[in-house]
Amino acid sequence: EDTVARIAAGEVVERPASAVKELVENSLDADADSVDVTVEEGGTELIRVADDGRGMGEADVRAAVREHTTSKIDGLEDLESGVATLGFRGEALHTIGSVSRVTICSRPRGDAGAGTELVYEGGEVTGVEPTGCPEGTIVEVEDLFYNTPARRKFLKTTATEFAHVNRVVTRYALANPDVAVSLTHDGREVFATTGQGDLQAAVMAVYGREVASAMIPVEAEGDDLPPGPLESVSGLVSHPETNRSSPEYLATYVNGRAVTADAVREGIMGAYGAQLGGDRYPFVTLFLEVPGEAVDVNVHPRKREVRFDDDDSVRRQVDAAVESALLEHGL
Ligand code: ADP
Ligand code: MG
Repeated sequence: EDTVARIAAGEVVERPASAVKELVENSLDADADSVDVTVEEGGTELIRVADDGRGMGEADVRAAVREHTTSKIDGLEDLESGVATLGFRGEALHTIGSVSRVTICSRPRGDAGAGTELVYEGGEVTGVEPTGCPEGTIVEVEDLFYNTPARRKFLKTTATEFAHVNRVVTRYALANPDVAVSLTHDGREVFATTGQGDLQAAVMAVYGREVASAMIPVEAEGDDLPPGPLESVSGLVSHPETNRSSPEYLATYVNGRAVTADAVREGIMGAYGAQLGGDRYPFVTLFLEVPGEAVDVNVHPRKREVRFDDDDSVRRQVDAAVESALLEHGL
């Protein structure tokens, strides 16, 4: 069946950042207030995601690594309608564990017991024992692709792999200012949000004071927008003078999901027009709300690229929302 094929294809772990994404989504799905991501060597040696979410008992830890197990909604409807749960395929831990060594240490919130540690290597459970674990869940992924040399060879430099990891964790940190998200690479803390701030505070933690102070609020809904499927466009965009040579600081979300869409990027760039030099890109954290049926999520599930039935209107709506924010600041 088509959905199944898509799900399987989308689930392939391409690089460390793909595994990080799945683990962070699981932590957020588990209602965590803090998510700490630690990676070594760009994530190729170690990925560790520790959360204080609802945790798992022994049976749940065993079930978590089984094929096709999910405690969540199945099908793609949740993505289309934008419901809260992020995971929807029940394949991530199983798939990651088939190409690495995964150790899960988990204890249900409020459970007085010790907790459970499970080791899953190359697709086999090699150990389960009661172990002292904090409340919540810690998942460690070691030696990613150790048993798939071709895939391992395909990986880029540590710096490049870490850049992908950084982008993924940044996206989730910005979208969840009420969760304390931290990222540490090779022993160095790259950023840490407090989980108690708003979007501005999260931008400050992630990108620093200089960028945060250059941010301009965007807030357009209903009649503020030209006709089109978008119900609202909100977030922060940078003063045109605060820019970079790469589009990686364009963080865009549709119904709360970190996705990219050509129409959205073109709308943003159109609003800045000639104010940005050639090949320069602003810092953007922009949230779009749209009825699920207007979005096509199946363009490239893994890359989280979407299209809209009416791309032209979306482009105009985003352009107008960002342009009026810039205009209000005399730009
Ligand atoms: P999915 O997220 O699509 O359900 P996964 O393979 O990512 O599939 O996870 C399988 C199951 O393991 C989840 O449905 C969830 O019940 C459990 N799980 C995974 N990670 C966590 C976590 N950090 N905290 C609590 N439960 C988790
Ligand atoms: Mg998941």
